Amino acid sequence: MNPELFLVLASGLFGLLFGSFSNVCVHRIPLRISIVSPRSRCPACEHEIAWYDNIPLISWLMLRGKCRSCGAPISIRYPLLELLMGLSWAGLAWKFGFSPLLIQALVMVSLLWMLTLIDLETGLLPNLLTFPGIAAGLLFSFWAGHLQDAIIGAVAGYAVFWLVAKLFLFFTGREGMGYGDFKLLAMLGAFMGWQALPFVIFASSLVGAVVGSAFILLTRKKMRAEIPFGPYLAAAGVVWFLWGGGILQWYAGLLRG
Ligand SMILES: [Zn+2]
Repeated sequence: MNPELFLVLASGLFGLLFGSFSNVCVHRIPLRISIVSPRSRCPACEHEIAWYDNIPLISWLMLRGKCRSCGAPISIRYPLLELLMGLSWAGLAWKFGFSPLLIQALVMVSLLWMLTLIDLETGLLPNLLTFPGIAAGLLFSFWAGHLQDAIIGAVAGYAVFWLVAKLFLFFTGREGMGYGDFKLLAMLGAFMGWQALPFVIFASSLVGAVVGSAFILLTRKKMRAEIPFGPYLAAAGVVWFLWGGGILQWYAGLLRG
């Protein structure tokens, strides 16, 4: 087998396994339970989950989404995150090949998937993920020789959102964003440097506003006071990470006319 294909397949497989571990993190980190022990249990009947019922994707399909002992439904989020993680890892391996950039991409994208799911389920972006994420981002940037851009990115990311939130509070008397959003933008700045921030802020706000308005129109419900903004930040961050160079060139082309 050619080495590139092997890398993609192996990454996809490890991504599936890491997705299984990510499910444990997504479930336990907001509850502040250890992610190492005890072993996974069914949340409904407390029955310990055997290894053969814990195989990524396959077990969920075999069990038809139900606990083996009590029949309680198992959320589609479990196989979904495993699949997303497997596909992401395979895709990143295909794009970056065997390189330091691949490791950085795997760490960043995996953290962003976990943060996205936790934000959607609980409205939180736990420090337990964003702080190590900021540290990892700075470390990778140091390794790649642009630590200075990364430090400016982390500080500016936090400061810009902090300022926006304070102004929003001042003018509307409401909290618009959470501190988790500031830290997530700091994390993206640490991974990709301050150059990523204008695009990430612009794209996430634009998509967030469009999706938010559509949601209100379609459901005729009032938006929650705090909309989960993490998923938009995460998506904009990944777009910049993968295609930022191209976006810059396109933009420069527009300016030149
Ligand atoms: Zn059960």
